Amino acid sequence: MRISELFYSIQGEGTLVGVPSVFVRTSGCNLRCGWCDTPYASWKPEGSERSVEEVLAEVKKHPARHVVLTGGEPMIAKELPELAGRLREAGYHLTIETAGTVIPEGIACDLASISPKLSNSTPSLERGGEAWVKRHEETRLQPEVLRAWAEQYEVQWKFVISNEQDLVEAREVLETIGVPIEPNRVLLMPEGTSVEALQARYPLLIEACKAFGYRLSPRLHIDLFGNKRGT
Ligand code: SF4
Repeated sequence: MRISELFYSIQGEGTLVGVPSVFVRTSGCNLRCGWCDTPYASWKPEGSERSVEEVLAEVKKHPARHVVLTGGEPMIAKELPELAGRLREAGYHLTIETAGTVIPEGIACDLASISPKLSNSTPSLERGGEAWVKRHEETRLQPEVLRAWAEQYEVQWKFVISNEQDLVEAREVLETIGVPIEPNRVLLMPEGTSVEALQARYPLLIEACKAFGYRLSPRLHIDLFGNKRGT
């Protein structure tokens, strides 16, 4: 499978924030978000081919008990089910970070970290071109796929929020899933790749969390390291 990067760091987002984890970032994505913060794994996928054995050996060099499979979109990597199964067998706690556009089909996973993409993710025509804008719009939200994850896995629902309209949309997405979602499994994250941009959006998110019982998720890695690869 094509791996963009593999590194040991601190989880910066979600319910496991602060937990030392090995991150395995696959390269390639079926979406093209305009604000994507890992373009080297989506818009211009980079990386080298590595076997499941090679990835496992690399993961085991680190003293972590938590592994995060991320991307790009890890769920489009053909060998991911095998890798996830082998990691589970080896006793790791496994998080899969996904946009929730691919049916899970029984993949080993302890925490599905699903970030459904709102309309703020659609790239501009200039950047994406007509074909990618259309594909992105057709693919980004698939309620039946989100439902499959919700019914079979422990899920945290992460929404990247820029403004009030995004909050309305996020609530609509939660409705379309069709199964009850506990508010404390819903995490709101500010859109932005700089500390200043994140800070500017926190007040809106804090009020929404207080009103609906959602959780605020920091983007600790940006606070600690800035928007840098390998963190
Ligand atoms: S789904 Fe994630 S990796 Fe893919 S384009 Fe969107 S933000 Fe980037």
